[in-house]
Amino acid sequence: MSIAFDHSYARDLPGTYLRVAPDPAPAPRLLALNTPLAAELGLDITEAEATAWFSGAALPPGADPIAQAYAGHQFGGFSPQLGDGRAHLLGEVIAPGGRRFDIQLKGSGRTPFSRGGDGKAAVGPMLREFLISEFMAAMGVPTTRALAVVATGEEIWRETKLPGAVLARVAASHLRVGTFQFFAARGETAKVRALADHAIARHYPDLAGAETPYLALFDAVAARQARLIAEWMGLGFIHGVMNTDNMAISGETIDYGPCAFMEAYAPGTVFSSIDHQGRYAYANQPLILGWNLARLAETLLPLFDPVPDRAVEIANDRLAGIADRYRAEWVGVMRRKLGLVGEEPGDAALADDLMAAMEGADWTLTFRRLADEAALRLLVPDFSRMEAWLPRWRARAGDGAEGRIARANPAVIPRNHRVEDALSAATAGDLAPFHALLAAIRQPFVEAEPFILPAPTGFGPYVTFCGT
Ligand code: AMP
Ligand code: MG
Repeated sequence: MSIAFDHSYARDLPGTYLRVAPDPAPAPRLLALNTPLAAELGLDITEAEATAWFSGAALPPGADPIAQAYAGHQFGGFSPQLGDGRAHLLGEVIAPGGRRFDIQLKGSGRTPFSRGGDGKAAVGPMLREFLISEFMAAMGVPTTRALAVVATGEEIWRETKLPGAVLARVAASHLRVGTFQFFAARGETAKVRALADHAIARHYPDLAGAETPYLALFDAVAARQARLIAEWMGLGFIHGVMNTDNMAISGETIDYGPCAFMEAYAPGTVFSSIDHQGRYAYANQPLILGWNLARLAETLLPLFDPVPDRAVEIANDRLAGIADRYRAEWVGVMRRKLGLVGEEPGDAALADDLMAAMEGADWTLTFRRLADEAALRLLVPDFSRMEAWLPRWRARAGDGAEGRIARANPAVIPRNHRVEDALSAATAGDLAPFHALLAAIRQPFVEAEPFILPAPTGFGPYVTFCGT
């Protein structure tokens, strides 16, 4: 088959990218192909085509690969030039429902944005992105998807020699907060405006006719990102590297690097080896949401109002509302997780008090087993607070709570020890554990025994790496 590529980003936004071809993989071997996703996209591709096209070994007809420019605040410090240092956007496809998606290769070789990097990726981290993004999708959390992972047949050097791989990533777009920052930092207001127009047309078409479309764009991005972070918090997901270049304007989760799911609930949980200060710790993620949105607002100031002081006032007014907006989203997520029907004024306090009562207990299973007191007693280290909380919850949740809880809270998540086992086996050439885990996390509400339990004692402390 062929892929009917379009190139709206390249067409609309000259001067925001460089044309550069992926490296040809010497001996590509298909490790994983996301057939359900291919079907959703209306792509009828053979395994041979996937192997060649999604490894860089051959370009699919109609592809016009580019590397996109972007900047970003990394751990709070501004880098004026990052960009796709190991990624190539092949083009866009329009799915049967009419939605437009980027198809991008990641780990496909050096570009002018590579700085010191080799432009490559290893099998482990690319399969990791496949797994975790598939779980997010299964849970209905907005996310980029993985279409395929192809081993390149090359060895790459990290701490040791590792097999190389390319990930084919599907995204609503790759517009990042950092994309806006790249041009704003250079004073290129016309390009920021063009990016904003492109973002509106692509992700928020209803706003095109708004009286103040750029302000409406900011509000819409803030709303989607607030909802996204609330969903992450509900799953115990720690992104690990919420730099502004890793925050998508579409509101999708993007750039699965050192991310991982918290097991025992502790607000300060950090997995990433480089996050020494805990900037991106679990409980900090909502604060970073606001910080990152402030950076986005800064790039849009000239579009908010030509008078700088007025623009700043407008932006500050908007930013002041983000904490409340996030809080409302979080309470909404918690209502769902607690099986509450409707809204009552005490709901926020009920959720807050559960946080205090469940400290140290497995995040995922505590919600899943709320209606099963015997199981909860085994999960919660200090049961006295939980014992006081449970009758309040039962009174509020009422009949049918057990069923609602089972439909809202996953039984299976990508447990860290399972992910590590699957990836080390895959790196050594055995893909069976990866595919077994993938099948389980694609049906997260099914109680698939071997994948439910937390890591055995002795596993950890768990540390993740950026996978660069
Ligand atoms: P990340 O931490 O993966 O979000 O990447 C931050 C920046 O580093 C982006 O500009 C990436 O393109 C770049 N980068 C990450 N890994 C590599 C690599 N192996 N080679 C070249 N550039 C890289
Ligand atoms: Mg990134």
